[in-house]
Amino acid sequence: MGRNPYFCGHETIPLSMKQILILLLIGLLPFKYSMARSAANDFTACALPDSVFALMQGRSYKVGCGVPRATLRYLRVKHYDAGGREHVGELVCHKDLAADLLAIFRELHRARYPIERMRLIDYYGADDERSMAANNTSAFNYRRVAGSKALSKHSTGRAIDINPLYNPCVSRDGRKVQPAKGRRYANRSLKSPYRITRGDLCHRLFKQHGFVWGGDWRSLKDYQHFEKP
Ligand SMILES: [Zn+2]
Repeated sequence: MGRNPYFCGHETIPLSMKQILILLLIGLLPFKYSMARSAANDFTACALPDSVFALMQGRSYKVGCGVPRATLRYLRVKHYDAGGREHVGELVCHKDLAADLLAIFRELHRARYPIERMRLIDYYGADDERSMAANNTSAFNYRRVAGSKALSKHSTGRAIDINPLYNPCVSRDGRKVQPAKGRRYANRSLKSPYRITRGDLCHRLFKQHGFVWGGDWRSLKDYQHFEKP
């Protein structure tokens, strides 16, 4: 059979298709998978790593803390601050809240809802006032409700405080504000990029996931606080 000048022309088409397929297989597909993998790794929950549990000892996990380690989870989530800078935050919470919090922080990240700081409260000596004054978002801390013998919902990791400096806890008579540094933000008409208001994205997401907002309480107003009964 004589050489068909058109055959080679046709032959190059399947070859170039093969090349495209090879490129897809060795290049684009793994790239796509690695993108999916890294996006998934941005929002993770796991059992408390030994290093985290060691850091918590005598701080958020105080002597006499009866909370079983296995009921707590260590979360890493991405978030943006009000300046548009992206951060990797970390939290310890109860295992029952882990999936809710991952879903909520995914949505907040997607919407660039500003959260300034999310470090383990142990870096503040588990001192709630210091952590709040630093506008640090945190969840688990074995402690009593301020001025009371009752254990806080934070003691089991079933509560979280978001942007606490700008969303303080205000006593019923308005005299006591925590953190003290956030006194001016007890005035809820004062605008700030970190202010939580009823019906905003943060409030809506927590409500959708079955949380109660401290800003809805009548005894006192805890604007930073969301807890799951
Ligand atoms: Zn709280």
